[in-house]
Amino acid sequence: MEPCLFCRIAGGEIPSEKVYEDEFVYAFEDINPQAPVHVLIVPKRHIARVEDLCHSDAETAGRLLTAAAVIAKQRGLTNGFRAVFNNGADGGQEVEHIHLHLIGGVKMGWPPFPSV
Ligand code: 5GP
Ligand code: ZN
Repeated sequence: MEPCLFCRIAGGEIPSEKVYEDEFVYAFEDINPQAPVHVLIVPKRHIARVEDLCHSDAETAGRLLTAAAVIAKQRGLTNGFRAVFNNGADGGQEVEHIHLHLIGGVKMGWPPFPSV
């Protein structure tokens, strides 16, 4: 099976603008930023969706968030930011490899969906 897009980016096979890397995760600039700061943080190991996480992935899952903390500080997001997993069809996930969107530099609204 072909490796997925974000596996190939995390593995350096497809170029990206690297923001952060550790043993567990890789972070890079979103190609189509929705805000002044828009970084994607992905596990280096392929995990398709949040519901595929097991307890043995706890360190990887935690590193997604601790990477967000490091990058938010680096980017000076002292007034806040949003950290989002779009997950599955209803969540608007387009790339089937878990990615944490770190979005900031603009005041955001809530809720992020049309009211019912
Ligand atoms: P999703 O909709 O799955 O939550 O988000 C996928 C994100 O990946 C989108 O924000 C999109 O702009 C970004 N993206 C898609 N393809 C590429 C790519 O080849 N390189 C980078 N850097 N970002 C990508
Ligand atoms: Zn993958």
